Amino acid sequence: MKRGRVLAVVVGGVFCLAVMSLYRMLETMQGAEPVHGRDIAHRQMDEDLFHLQQKIDRLERLLIDNNHLVARLRDSLLHRQSPVGGANNSSDSIHIRAGPLPGCRLAEELKDGADGVQLLDVYDLLPFDNLDGGVWKQGFDIKYHGDEWAEQPLELFLVPHSHNDPGWLKTFDGYYHDQTRHILDNMLVKLEEDSRRKMIWAEVSYFSKWWSEIDGQKRALVKRLVEAGQLELVTGGWVMADEANSHYFALLDQLMEGHQWLQTHLGVKPSSGWAIDPFGHSPSMTYLLKGAGLRNMVVQRVHYAVKKHFAQQQTLEFLWRQSWDSSSSSDIMCHMMPFYSYDVPHTCGPNPAICCQFDFHRLPGGRVFCPWKIPPQPITDQNIKERALVLLDQYRQKSRLFRSSVLLVPLGDDFRYVESREWDAQFNNYQKLFDYFDQHPELHIKARFGTLADYFAALHRRLSTTGTALPTLRGDFFTYADRDDHYWSGYFTSRPFYKRLDRTLESTLRAAEILFSITLAEMRRFRGDGRLVEGFPAREHFQRLTAGRRSLGLFQHHDAVTGTARDPVVIDYGTRLFHAILDLRQVLQSSAHWLLLLDKSQYHHDQSNPFLQTDEVISAQDALPQKMTLVLSDEPRSLVVFNPTEQLRTSVISVVVDSPDAHVVVAETHQPMASQISAVWAEPGRVSAEAFQLSFIAELPPLSLVVYHVTKAPPGSTPRARYSVHRHGNPLSIQSEHFQVSALKGSEVNTPLSLSNKHLQIWSSPETGLLQKVRLQSGLVHQVQIQFLWYGTRSSAHKDKSGAYLFLPGEEGPQPYSSSEPPLVRVTRGPVFSDITSCFKHFTHTVRLFHLDGHAGKSLELSNMVDIRSEVNRELVMRLVSDVNSGNRFYSDLNGFQMQQRRTLEKLPLQANFYPMSSSSFLQDSKSRLTLLSAQSQAVASLRSGELEVVLDRRLQQDDNRGLGQGVTDNKLTASLYHLLLEERQGVAQEVGGASVEHLSLLAHLDSLSLCHPPIPMVAPSDNQLPKLRPFLPLRSSLPCDIHLLNLRMLEDPQEAGSPSQEVALLLHRKGFDCSSAPSPLPSCSWSAHEEVDLEELLAPLRFRSLRRSGLTLLRDHDEPGSAHQQRHVARLRPMEIYAFRVQID
Ligand SMILES: [Zn+2]
Repeated sequence: MKRGRVLAVVVGGVFCLAVMSLYRMLETMQGAEPVHGRDIAHRQMDEDLFHLQQKIDRLERLLIDNNHLVARLRDSLLHRQSPVGGANNSSDSIHIRAGPLPGCRLAEELKDGADGVQLLDVYDLLPFDNLDGGVWKQGFDIKYHGDEWAEQPLELFLVPHSHNDPGWLKTFDGYYHDQTRHILDNMLVKLEEDSRRKMIWAEVSYFSKWWSEIDGQKRALVKRLVEAGQLELVTGGWVMADEANSHYFALLDQLMEGHQWLQTHLGVKPSSGWAIDPFGHSPSMTYLLKGAGLRNMVVQRVHYAVKKHFAQQQTLEFLWRQSWDSSSSSDIMCHMMPFYSYDVPHTCGPNPAICCQFDFHRLPGGRVFCPWKIPPQPITDQNIKERALVLLDQYRQKSRLFRSSVLLVPLGDDFRYVESREWDAQFNNYQKLFDYFDQHPELHIKARFGTLADYFAALHRRLSTTGTALPTLRGDFFTYADRDDHYWSGYFTSRPFYKRLDRTLESTLRAAEILFSITLAEMRRFRGDGRLVEGFPAREHFQRLTAGRRSLGLFQHHDAVTGTARDPVVIDYGTRLFHAILDLRQVLQSSAHWLLLLDKSQYHHDQSNPFLQTDEVISAQDALPQKMTLVLSDEPRSLVVFNPTEQLRTSVISVVVDSPDAHVVVAETHQPMASQISAVWAEPGRVSAEAFQLSFIAELPPLSLVVYHVTKAPPGSTPRARYSVHRHGNPLSIQSEHFQVSALKGSEVNTPLSLSNKHLQIWSSPETGLLQKVRLQSGLVHQVQIQFLWYGTRSSAHKDKSGAYLFLPGEEGPQPYSSSEPPLVRVTRGPVFSDITSCFKHFTHTVRLFHLDGHAGKSLELSNMVDIRSEVNRELVMRLVSDVNSGNRFYSDLNGFQMQQRRTLEKLPLQANFYPMSSSSFLQDSKSRLTLLSAQSQAVASLRSGELEVVLDRRLQQDDNRGLGQGVTDNKLTASLYHLLLEERQGVAQEVGGASVEHLSLLAHLDSLSLCHPPIPMVAPSDNQLPKLRPFLPLRSSLPCDIHLLNLRMLEDPQEAGSPSQEVALLLHRKGFDCSSAPSPLPSCSWSAHEEVDLEELLAPLRFRSLRRSGLTLLRDHDEPGSAHQQRHVARLRPMEIYAFRVQID
């Protein structure tokens, strides 16, 4: 500490000196009065001033550097003052709360401020009694006197829309050809006919496809309609994304893809969000919309009891605020539609039987009709008065649910306005009604066609003139129920194979984006003239990246990643994901190839025979990846590993080789790597004689490409894993030529199986191999049991059963998994990792410990291989049962972006207590926290204190009556992957009451990062004539632990469509982290309480020629004007926030 102080004084001195010199310089400058009439002196003075200016600039930079140095010193002093690790755990510290984790101050402050409506409290309050509300079944009778609009007339905007799913019952292309293109073609004709007509459009995936097929004249007309405000592009995402299963990387990426397209082709920037069909809503999405510059949004699918409550409180319009935000900066105005659906019967007012009569597409003689059996009538002179008053009554009732007299009424449904006739029916009949209202001022209504922009502009005007304030709201809208106890928690897991594939594509895309951007920057620097290397397929790769973004984007659609599309559509999505992964691997391979070459002139691109190849083969859209077998010899084989994370990490790399003895060295230094040879299991009880798994511990610098040499080694020279196997009551013996395999004997068969590393010891049941207990380094032993269970569905006495959307479990509740045959249990022990694998009939479960000294050795890896194809109406669940005293609370993530508190409520049915989990969930009490990190999305619940369960797969024979028309029976062999982290919490006085905002710990963040972005091994051909490769290390050091490089995304050249530009989008996310305990062991990255971050220092030695802060979707007109800060590349990064910059890398 003493040394630190001395250093602080020294730095302080330098700082003062710098300030004094700056002051003196300024003085000198002021003293130099200009002399008139003498040109030479003038020029001389200009030069002097110029030099002075330069000196001041330099000094300024020096000052900033000093500031940073002082800040870092302060941080390091704080770190030293605080107890770190298991130290200082005396009884005193239990009473006196230990200071927060140093450098955690900012995130801590955000806990304050719980104003406004908190949805968790609403849930505590609501009775969920589902009373019959009359004509508005889920609501109540709406009363009005009739004079409410005398002073402020009802101002109504009827918003025509057509909900176009990019795939559901038909594929994306199928819908496009049959419906969507006709809708858009007709839109041009019908909007042009009458300037009072309006339309909104949401899905840019469809819009861009249509645009590519229309001629210049039609394009010009589209632009005119947009400029005139007749056509509004709402949200502007590639799709209307699911908000439960999607990861925020993909949510933002599809929004960026849509927004970039709109800016390039139409020059527009969306201002209103429109999400009428996603099954529940997440504040992560609103954060992204706000960050992209949207000001308002509309949501629809919210629990009917919440809607009713909000309608009673007149809080259907609110300012949605992030739970963690203590300011109002994340607020976005949100309109929640009050009724059951977004179709016409449920949008004009509370009575669907009446509203249906104003859906003129259902006029008698057409294909659609009103299920309430009263058909619409065309508006005529004879019936107009009666019709207008009937409709006005609905409008007035609906208006009473809102605080202002401006009213939004959507007019549309799924794939509407396909035929010209439908346009005429809706627009002509409504125009007559509007004209009638205009002619009768005593009705106090002004009605017209509008867009969302029209509606929100009028709403803001009215709110400000009447001085009406809207409430703020924190929380999310999961889990959605549309009626009765029909909770939509099934889709959190449906089609888990593709939910996992989605994340594989996501991590591949991010890795390819980053490596490609760095490669182009390196090439420009290498050539020195800003141009790219000839022969490198930059344009083709950019197009692969674009196609990859769009495939990932399309899959975020609310019938895609949700697993709620028909079987052929699922195959279509799967094929797109699969091809995108293969294409993006090409980008990775050839970028890595060029970066690694010592002599760049040796680069040549051969697409059919790439120099590097990933060591994993995916043979079909529904197949799991398989490792290819590397043929080894005495000649070294080059193995390249790309670390796609911004952290120095210690990882275990596993490849499959053809020899039981292999030697791995770092190619450059010949340093040997600690390694282990393990068996490849051809069957649960049969060892492969041809293939062996080689695992070694790799130290991978941030974003680096490291080259290893693998050679065949002398027999017996590589440490081999040892095995013990057991099958309860049915002993078996396994023969292997290369491995020692023993069976448990005598008392061993009743002794818990145990494994340990430096940080942990675990015990598992000898009978099942499943985890039972965990001991931490501190000596504390925790019960952490792993169990598997089945859920069934409701008996035939019920009309409704579980399906793709709904989870309607059987009355018997969860049943313990049991199998007639005891599982084969295999224990692996080796120097690199040890594990226990349990082979059951329906799943293979492995718990693995890595023998790593650093923090990466602190978590357990859990993996499952599930196959429930033999079952009928069953769902398989993995449950953790721990002694953590968590009560009825737990936390699950929203889109990997933030943690949301959950309360398991007895008044709700079982299926209502399941929530989406994209990447993490935890339980905690004052002493410990149990975190489950996952590499895929699924449903999660904590049905009892200390318990956490995730749904692994579901096989359901029937449709659940939400339009899909089929069950979910296309199950596959499905993999799922987790890390389990048990942490002790120190100095936490007590659980913060209410809806406390919690974050993952720093270690959990780092762990999640490595789980979601695994290292990517690539192999070079076995050839001793290979060009020389050298490692590539783009960064000097790891980024701070809490700063995540979300993406480095190449932007399109504005001059040359389809080509990469010189600019990339730098996306940084500063994560909020838990302050209550210090990470132990300490990670190699640092963290700081300071918001100011020098971006060039962060990513040194990369240099930026330019850097402009931008909106999250990189629209040009978002760019902040160049501030002094930006010239120096210093940015303020607040915890929890995502930042986007346009940069040119030098
Ligand atoms: Zn939809």
